[in-house]
Amino acid sequence: MKIVLQNVLWLLSFVAYQYFCLENQAVTNIGVFFSDEKYQSEIALNTTIYKKNTVDQRANFKSTIKHVPADSFEASKILCETLNTDDGVAAVFGTESAASSILESICNQFDVPYMITSWRPPSFKKRHTVLNFFPEAELFAHALAEIVKSLQWNSFVIIYENEEGLIRMQEILKLQEYEQNSKQNNVLVKQLGSGPDHRSLLKEIKNLTENNIILDCKTENIIPILKQAKDQRLLTLYNNYFLTSLDAHTLDYSELGTEANITTIRIFDYNTTTFHHTIRRWGLLPFDYDGKVINLEADKIKTETVLFYDALLLLTDCINDLESSHTHNIATNPIDCYNENQIRSEFGLTISAYMKERKPSLTLSGPLKFDESGHRIDFNVHVVDVLDKKVIANWFASNNSLVLSRSSNETENAAVANLQKILVKVSSRLGEPYLMVKKAEEGEELYGNERYEGYSMDLIKEVAKLIGFKFEFFITSDGKYGNFDETKKKWTGLVGDLLEGRAHLAVCDLTITHQRREVVDFSMPFMTLGISILYRKEDKKEINMFAFLDPFSISVWIYTATLYLIISVVLFFISRMTPGDWENPHPCDENPEELENIWDIKNCLWLTLGSIMTQGCDILPKGISSRMAVSMWWFFSLIMTSSYTANLAAFLTKDRMEPSIDSAEDLSKQTKIKYGALQGGSTFAFFKDSNFSTYQKMWMSMSSARPSVFVQNNKDGVKKVQAPKENYAFLMESTQIEYEIETKCDLKQVGNWLDTKTYGIAMPMNSPYRSAINKAILKLQETGKLNELKNIWWKERRNEPSCDKKAEGEDNADGAELALANVGGVFFVLGVGIGIAFVLAIAEFLWNVKSVSVEEHMSYWEALKVEVKFACNVWITKKRTKPVASESSSSSSRKSDKIDNKSIVHSILHSAGSFMNLNN
Ligand code: GLU
Repeated sequence: MKIVLQNVLWLLSFVAYQYFCLENQAVTNIGVFFSDEKYQSEIALNTTIYKKNTVDQRANFKSTIKHVPADSFEASKILCETLNTDDGVAAVFGTESAASSILESICNQFDVPYMITSWRPPSFKKRHTVLNFFPEAELFAHALAEIVKSLQWNSFVIIYENEEGLIRMQEILKLQEYEQNSKQNNVLVKQLGSGPDHRSLLKEIKNLTENNIILDCKTENIIPILKQAKDQRLLTLYNNYFLTSLDAHTLDYSELGTEANITTIRIFDYNTTTFHHTIRRWGLLPFDYDGKVINLEADKIKTETVLFYDALLLLTDCINDLESSHTHNIATNPIDCYNENQIRSEFGLTISAYMKERKPSLTLSGPLKFDESGHRIDFNVHVVDVLDKKVIANWFASNNSLVLSRSSNETENAAVANLQKILVKVSSRLGEPYLMVKKAEEGEELYGNERYEGYSMDLIKEVAKLIGFKFEFFITSDGKYGNFDETKKKWTGLVGDLLEGRAHLAVCDLTITHQRREVVDFSMPFMTLGISILYRKEDKKEINMFAFLDPFSISVWIYTATLYLIISVVLFFISRMTPGDWENPHPCDENPEELENIWDIKNCLWLTLGSIMTQGCDILPKGISSRMAVSMWWFFSLIMTSSYTANLAAFLTKDRMEPSIDSAEDLSKQTKIKYGALQGGSTFAFFKDSNFSTYQKMWMSMSSARPSVFVQNNKDGVKKVQAPKENYAFLMESTQIEYEIETKCDLKQVGNWLDTKTYGIAMPMNSPYRSAINKAILKLQETGKLNELKNIWWKERRNEPSCDKKAEGEDNADGAELALANVGGVFFVLGVGIGIAFVLAIAEFLWNVKSVSVEEHMSYWEALKVEVKFACNVWITKKRTKPVASESSSSSSRKSDKIDNKSIVHSILHSAGSFMNLNN
């Protein structure tokens, strides 16, 4: 109701004004020069003059609107004509055109106040009557630089249209920290061509993998350029634009259908009540603008209109003030530009000086303050998110400070909202167990994400569930992780996909390295690992029970055995021939009738066997020749047994003498085992860039090896380690080693980690939703989901069975000591020997039973019973030479005691003699 009443009052007063006021009063003329139709400004002009004349009713204002041609001469003529009218001109509003400087200098020459509302390069000329309502150039450049700084871009491209734009960019250019030989030049400057096709320039920027662009061009060119940028995939979620045009907010970006982060600036806030009231009033007065309907929506009001309005308001306020103070004559006089004696505007200087001093009653463009030269030195710059239409920061010229108006939470929410709107493209590479091609059921066809499975897929699924976005996996075309290709001067693999805008996220076993971190962002780590060595376990040697035979060849064994028999036979004959071995059987009988020779073939075999076994023998030859033969055999035996002993030790330690590695140092010190890593991966880079001497040595060895020891993927590396022909150790990341040795029982991890690093989800630099992804990963970590996923893909979902840990334990006792199986042959020989001896003993026993039965006239069976009974009675240690079946055990023992006492004494003497070799 109030608004309706207000409107009616406005209209009534307008009609009265048209008929009564304008006709009769002396007027204060304001010259307005437009270069083209500026309907918004015209509305502001008409409304303001109307308001001043009806409400304030002091000076009576009128305006003379002229359209200025680009030709300076023509423009100057029009200005001079206007100045020379009867009413003269109190002040002139200039325009942004090629002729503006001539207009400015004419006004300055005649002290006519001249007002501008557009950007001008920095100037030190003192022009007393000129006032520019547009922010002073240097301050404005400074504000732009501060805003760019707040955007936290590491690198960016400045695209400018003309030299003026480059001047505006001066302070931004100073932000550049130029590093020679850096893979990145932090600030690139490119000029737009004559257009309208700028695709080649945009393509060039695309190839530079630069996502941050500062665009300084005319407002009307912004949308066409952004459309072309979209064609070049430069308008994705990860592209950031900063539009320096102060009218960029008036454009409609919806037709671009973009998720790019576009930021612009305004020097006024159209969300204030003052602004809305003012604009509403502008639309109420029914002036005619060539029959056109002028859009006066708040967000469509141009900066020039706002500044024009502020300037007009200040000018009219100042004139009114001066008018009411009666201290100045504000009458304007006609000025003839071509008259040499023409006097200057009488109060032009007064008005302009007063305008610089007076505090404006109201402004739409914020704080307004001028220096002596008429430069605007106080203003605010509002940094606006174009798609959100929200102010994200404000820069204040008064204290040169930038204040963020959006909390980090709001920024994150806005970013997440953007992410939720799109299908997030996730770049990855195939590699177990991170991403594998899923086997389809029979007759089933898989599409999209269904085609793949693995840890990476599950990880992104979980993150997407928490943040609420949809995603699609694709495999990077070159299958690489991502390294900088020096020849092509671009990044490969997953990192390349991010930089070239093909992907929003990249995930696999992608290591966070400082080189990659320079060009892309990483989420917080989801896995920690280190480089280690994958090597195969020692081959299981065939267990040889008869390894004790190895020290001699079979021929040596055969020769030795043959020689043993020959020597025994030879000794037999020698001892028969040598008189020394024929002995008196009864030493007490000095003239024996016969001599005895103990060296039958049995004793010869026993002596030679005892010698070669290093056990000696209780009887020894006495003849010179036989002793000679035996000593030669002893010599032979000595050499053979010591050679055998020495060789046996060497044979048993042979396995352990093969080169074995326990660490990277061990690897670096030997040449027999080749070692390598994945070509172009972070492990490769680790050795290449290492300053540590061992790793440098390893790098030299790896890089100079022919054929190459580097492999294209982990799978090839594992195969190479397993290949029986290759003696190859693979430097691999521990998580991957863990995965491989889980089921490949012939492989093992050697040594500790050489470094510590992590895997992360990569995304383009300065990704606004990085913190949302970080939060999701943290949550997955805290809830144990990350561990669960690892367990699933490392242990549970394996096709082959897991290696038996017990077997692994046994395997680890690799030959430090001899296992039972290694010496089994010796046990076997002992067993067989004892077995044969036992069989022989039984045979002897049975034979003896037979002779007893004959001698004692007993049946064989009875004799056997008596003998067995006797043999089993372990307490009896003496035996009669002629046992009687009926004999009691006690009487037999008494008799046999006597016999045995004799034989014991004899045997002791005999043993002592043989020990001391006194028998002869
Ligand atoms: N994870 C490594 C990378 O991101 C690849 C494997 C390796 O270098 O061992 O480059």
